Amino acid sequence: MIEFEHVTKSYPDGTVAVSDFSLRINSGSTVALVGSSGSGKTTLLRMVNRMVEPTSGRVLVDGDDVSAGDPVRLRRSIGYVLQAGGLMPHRTVAENVGAVLRLNGVSRGEARERALAMMDQVGLDRSLGRRYPGQLSGGQQQRVGVARALAPDPDVLLMDEPFGAVDPIVRRDLQDELLRLQSELGKTIVFVTHDIEEAFRLGDEVVILRPGGKIAQQGTPEDIMVHPADDFVRRFTGADRADRQLRIEMRDGRSVAVDGNGRPVGVIDE
Ligand code: ADP
Ligand code: MG
Repeated sequence: MIEFEHVTKSYPDGTVAVSDFSLRINSGSTVALVGSSGSGKTTLLRMVNRMVEPTSGRVLVDGDDVSAGDPVRLRRSIGYVLQAGGLMPHRTVAENVGAVLRLNGVSRGEARERALAMMDQVGLDRSLGRRYPGQLSGGQQQRVGVARALAPDPDVLLMDEPFGAVDPIVRRDLQDELLRLQSELGKTIVFVTHDIEEAFRLGDEVVILRPGGKIAQQGTPEDIMVHPADDFVRRFTGADRADRQLRIEMRDGRSVAVDGNGRPVGVIDE
């Protein structure tokens, strides 16, 4: 479980990135933090592994205040996936995936074996293990980033716009892969995105942020779609857009979902 307790972060130049933010994330669930650029998402995520220290308030992981222990150990116990992948360009893919294991004292041979097994799990062919990151596609590099974060088997996985730099079809594949992995592994995942569709797709719970890291609404995707809290949420989720407003019409004896522009968007299974 991850708990943010009244967390505030002001940077030295006076920017208040996050103010009085409180949130509880249950073990084994995926929370999607979604907001526009600059709304404090990365700041919030990095408070969990202490790459950012809160100005006030605290963050607890499984009941322990993260500021109490050694930050390096904390970081090695929490998986972290970045948008750009953050891979080491002069190390092979297998070495990248096994990097944290090596830092944790696992032998070279065992780290390699576990790295290859992790590659299987994220849908990367083992033969790619000998390549360098620059010799992989963007989508493959993101899988390497996920494999590297998962290799030490952390309970918590932090993901910062991990699929932002790939094309929509690959992005969809990566999202599907994450949903499949999560159903097998049951990690506690904090997933940051500016894309509400992605947040609705991946989050058991979705937290919509206003500028300044304030919560506009938090709930399941269904809650938020059915009961948007205010106009900000309506605009952010597109609830006010005609293409989000669906109704059912009968066509040739079948129920068809039609949007507010009268365009068919799907057939209702009955
Ligand atoms: P997001 O990830 O949602 O785009 P960030 O957490 O990166 O947002 O940033 C939130 C706000 O804090 C922004 O206004 C940003 O400019 C500011 N900020 C982030 N990091 C720093 C820093 N190191 N120094 C000063 N301001 C910062
Ligand atoms: Mg960010």
